[in-house]
Amino acid sequence: MSAPLLVVTVAAPTMAELRLRRDAVVGADLIELRIDQAADPDVSAALSGRRTPVVVTCRAAFEGGGFRGSESERLKILQAAVAQGADYVDVEFSADFALDLIRSTGGKGIVVSSHHFDDVPSDLSERVRAMRATGAEIVKVAVYPRALSDNLRLLSLGDPSRKTVLIGMGPAGLATRVLAAHFGSCWSYAGDGHAPGQIGASRMLGEFRFREVTSRTGIYGITGAPLAHSVSPAMHNAAFRAAGVDAVYMPMPAASAEDFITFANALGVKGASVTIPYKVDLFGKADTTDDLSRAVGAINTLRHDGGQWHGRNTDVAGFLAPIAGRLPLQGARVAILGSGGAARGVAVALGSHGSVVTVYGRDRSKAEEVARLGHGRGASYPVPPKSWDLLVNATPVGMVPHVDETPFDGEFDGRVVYDLIYNPQRTRLLVEAEAAGCDTIGGLDMLVAQAVEQSDWWIGRRPPVDLMRQAAQASL
Ligand code: NAP
Repeated sequence: MSAPLLVVTVAAPTMAELRLRRDAVVGADLIELRIDQAADPDVSAALSGRRTPVVVTCRAAFEGGGFRGSESERLKILQAAVAQGADYVDVEFSADFALDLIRSTGGKGIVVSSHHFDDVPSDLSERVRAMRATGAEIVKVAVYPRALSDNLRLLSLGDPSRKTVLIGMGPAGLATRVLAAHFGSCWSYAGDGHAPGQIGASRMLGEFRFREVTSRTGIYGITGAPLAHSVSPAMHNAAFRAAGVDAVYMPMPAASAEDFITFANALGVKGASVTIPYKVDLFGKADTTDDLSRAVGAINTLRHDGGQWHGRNTDVAGFLAPIAGRLPLQGARVAILGSGGAARGVAVALGSHGSVVTVYGRDRSKAEEVARLGHGRGASYPVPPKSWDLLVNATPVGMVPHVDETPFDGEFDGRVVYDLIYNPQRTRLLVEAEAAGCDTIGGLDMLVAQAVEQSDWWIGRRPPVDLMRQAAQASL
């Protein structure tokens, strides 16, 4: 099968604006003109002067479109698009006139489509078979997977001998858009969110290198929930590109750890970053784990090889890397604020380097449990004066949008303040610590350092730290 094409969807309230947007599109093989969104839908205006082949779509309201006229008016518009030589015309399988329109053209240039905005219908295979039987050149189905593994229902529908477009809408469906070649789609759509989960052409082509993704491209990603603001795809795709590795990395928002494993096994995912809330659950599902992840009780990285899932924890190395040379850890008095997942890795990292660890938490017993990982003690707030050399914030307090908040209201009478938060890069805690004369470290340093370790483990090459940092900063 030839490489999947990229269709960029444009819509506008008027035909004049639609033409302006059509002509501003960069990087598309085809432009989908959603003339149903215009108050004055007009096929001639849509087609004239086009420099890129187009798909004309006049989507009915009953299938999520904006067309408010009658069905006979809609048919006239689609017939005009065929008569005036539109490269493709989209018609809903459920439209009463679909078969007549398809027969009138012999199917050539017709995209017969079916959209399901709530789920993946149970009769999808039968539906696709019936849609193929119409004789339309292209069969397109767009469904709404609620879990990653729901996408697998699409995987079995691709047919190299028939042109098919298989789209999973919403966050869990992103893989179907980026991995069109793996799913057997002849094209994929991009645009400014004209359908749930649709991403812009510049992100498809730039960050995900859509043009280079073939059915042999290695698949990596980040799993967790939610993932909308993750900067990991930007970092890892930049690293793959720089290393010249045929691989792509994307958000994989799973419904559960099991959901991720099912999806990843079926698609042949080679590796994944793991974040909240699956660090512990996927630790439990890994076939092998390293000493550090066993000490922490959680993983943040998976690699698949030899038919097994191997788990590691690069958060520990990522946390330690930025401190190197700034403070001798042996004997240093450390105050860790928070007793969640990140605090566990920090406690293990510092305890194993001989620091004297105190974990502060709202829940004293939880703080004590985490402190034991670092051979230290748990305590309730507040942090006493002159009690620390290194203060680590492992709570989300001060993160966007609550940038005016700080987790610490004591004296900055220690040496180094390390905030694991990376958005914003300069938290209120760091600004105040710096003003008081402390050395400070932001969470981006750790984020980049743990990602460098992951990439190294997956592809056997250490990406340049600066490259990863720039990609993360640009994404933030
Ligand atoms: P988590 O498992 O949800 O734990 C959060 C901890 O913060 C819990 O102990 C919680 O206390 C405490 N906390 C929450 N709100 C608080 C408040 N208002 N006052 C006092 N304590 C509060 O989250 P996590 O995975 O540990 O992540 C913590 C932070 O580290 C996040 O900001 C995350 O973005 C950051 N992080 C950064 C990196 C990096 O690479 N830079 C890596 C991992 C995490 P309770 O137990 O009482 O609820």
